[in-house]
Amino acid sequence: KNIPDHETGFREMDELLTNAKEGVIKNSSDISAIGHRVVHGGETFTKPTIIDETVIKAIESNVPLAPLHNPGNLSGIFAAQKFFKGVINIAVFDTAFHQTMPEGNYRYALPNEYYEKYKIRRYGFHGTSHQYVSKLAAKFLNKPIESLNLITLHLGNGASVCAIKNGKSFDTSMGMTPLEGLIMGTRAGDIDPAIPFFLADHVKLSYKEIDTMLNKESGLKGISSLNDMRDILAKREEGDKNAKLAIEMYVKRIRKYIGAYLVGLGGKLDAIIFTAGIGENASEIRKLCMENLSMLGIEIDENKNKASGKEVREINNDKSKIKVLICPTNEELEIALQAKELLQAN
Ligand code: ADP
Repeated sequence: KNIPDHETGFREMDELLTNAKEGVIKNSSDISAIGHRVVHGGETFTKPTIIDETVIKAIESNVPLAPLHNPGNLSGIFAAQKFFKGVINIAVFDTAFHQTMPEGNYRYALPNEYYEKYKIRRYGFHGTSHQYVSKLAAKFLNKPIESLNLITLHLGNGASVCAIKNGKSFDTSMGMTPLEGLIMGTRAGDIDPAIPFFLADHVKLSYKEIDTMLNKESGLKGISSLNDMRDILAKREEGDKNAKLAIEMYVKRIRKYIGAYLVGLGGKLDAIIFTAGIGENASEIRKLCMENLSMLGIEIDENKNKASGKEVREINNDKSKIKVLICPTNEELEIALQAKELLQAN
């Protein structure tokens, strides 16, 4: 079905939810609240927030920080207000979970004024997912979340890693934008920041072309020409050199962050968590990420790692001091749960 814009989408949803045959409610006013994923909350939002005019203005003021995402999120909010009249709208921010990072982890070593005037700093993303899987892990390990140190690896098309200290985000690999950090499907992740100057001065690429290259043509795709991990793994099996290199680089970057975060957490780590498309499904990638780490107390059981499943599960062996878990993420459910919690508190 062609759904060209948010308005059509919300109209469709309204019909689907309320139609007499398959609908689950009588009319749209039966809905208590609508939870919206809003990508950039800047420094303004540290928790889920009921949307009113002031909140909309604040989301608008964060558009420069997420020009591709926040305008779309606002269109969704406006469409929801139009088709679900009188229903409370709640914004759940992708950046909110990471607002607990200490300043030493979120600042860039640029002159202070660029932080003070322009808010150039690391924000981190995928917060809803990192938070959700950390709660799943706490439940699985039967320990209070406040007592846990975790490294969560969200490996989807976009990818980020989060160091969680005593249940709170302590450090994360994405920065002011989702381009920093891990190698992703089509994003480069960490590179020498002088490369764009070189591309502009010597290759004569425009600012826009550089942006497109780093966001859409780099990462796994840049190295292997493919961006679906299933295809890259299959090509590697066939002996394709570029697919082999892409996977080697992808895994090395993840291991670099695991090393850094393990040290950042003072060596106190309860569990490493794999989640999202690649993290949940690609046993080969998990194996490569966790290879030869027994000196750090990390050992996986290859049979457990290979077994497929949809539930939270442990893939470390009995000797491993640090647990290694697969926790399937569910950002929509987490947004709904956070919206529900906020409603109950009000
Ligand atoms: P998004 O960031 O778009 O939500 P997903 O979390 O759905 O992404 O992850 C997409 C990635 O997961 C793709 O690279 C895809 O190849 C990978 N993936 C999904 N299933 C498998 C699988 N069985 N084996 C390897 N990779 C997989």
